[in-house]
Amino acid sequence: MDGLGGLPRQSDRLTELEAAKTPNLDRLAAEGECGLHQPIGSGITPGSGPSHLALFGYDPIKYDVGRGVLSALGIGFDLKPDDIAARGNFCTVDDNGTVTDRRAGRIGTDKNKELCEELGKIELSGTELFIDTVSEHRFLFVLRGKGLGDRVNDTDPQETGRRPLKAEGEDDASRKTAALVEEFLKRAGDILNDHHPANMVLMRGFSKHPDWPTVPDVYGFKAAAIANYPMYRGVSKLVGMNVLEVEYGIDKEFEALEANWNDYDFFYLHVKKTDSHGEDGDFEAKVSVIEETDRHLSLIDKLKPDVILVTGDHSTPSEMKYHSWHPVPVLIWSKFVRPDGAKTFGERECLKGALGVRFPATDLMPLVMANSHRLEKYGA
Ligand code: ZN
Repeated sequence: MDGLGGLPRQSDRLTELEAAKTPNLDRLAAEGECGLHQPIGSGITPGSGPSHLALFGYDPIKYDVGRGVLSALGIGFDLKPDDIAARGNFCTVDDNGTVTDRRAGRIGTDKNKELCEELGKIELSGTELFIDTVSEHRFLFVLRGKGLGDRVNDTDPQETGRRPLKAEGEDDASRKTAALVEEFLKRAGDILNDHHPANMVLMRGFSKHPDWPTVPDVYGFKAAAIANYPMYRGVSKLVGMNVLEVEYGIDKEFEALEANWNDYDFFYLHVKKTDSHGEDGDFEAKVSVIEETDRHLSLIDKLKPDVILVTGDHSTPSEMKYHSWHPVPVLIWSKFVRPDGAKTFGERECLKGALGVRFPATDLMPLVMANSHRLEKYGA
């Protein structure tokens, strides 16, 4: 559950997870081992990309991936090894070229498609250009050509009241990319001129597809991802999981889990709305998503998994309306866990758990492996 961790509300000092009625999670917590993991490090507020990588066992500092690659994978774009991908945002600029809205009033996806079609017609010297809609104000930008580098800065100034930054490369190959980006931006500005509020674009996260060990390579199992939102589908694909086609909704996600149960060794199932409601500051709505997810967990009695791990990628307290650095509740359930003090699933109860507090999220996959008897003995 994305952004699962929370902070207590004023009225009764309960967090979202503590306030939620979760009989299935409470039973798993009582029978299993609990704790609170730390996605990146002490005091670090994680983005969902790196914190998911940590959950999948990848050191999020070493395995750093650009936003462009995640956007490409998320919408199923067939990224080639030498392609340069970036995340584009339609934005609003005034007559002086100063950014007044970094998201162009979150234009609709239909308008986005119309504009992407226009931008896709731009021809750049000796390079193929692909422009694809992601959603609302977001689009994907891909350059396909020879000898292009990805060490190019974001042109997004990160705040309004400033002009977009000039794209500059750190090495020869990246300077070649930067020159093409500048050429694109100039033409894009001309095309978008009379499309207020989407009258300019900002670029972020220039990157190439990284050559990383995959989940099947590292863990030796066939893994499936069940996720509705593009970025999570992208991260899953990046680490070599098979991303299942699934309709929107938690119920549809659990239906997909059941339908595919016999075809995989491992499932990652992502619930997004816990995070979205946390970011909106809607405590009650976050509680209800946790409760909805809990109801679907009754399926477990039917499927009989060897191991169940329930956690979030980071905390998103409704009180803060943002991701936070707080450690994240986690429970692991299998036949081979030690009893601990946690009787229900919540931040306070997890403090009594056998897994400990502030342990690295990258420890979780080895525990999943061990609990399913998939790790060999170390040494004689
Ligand atoms: Zn997240």
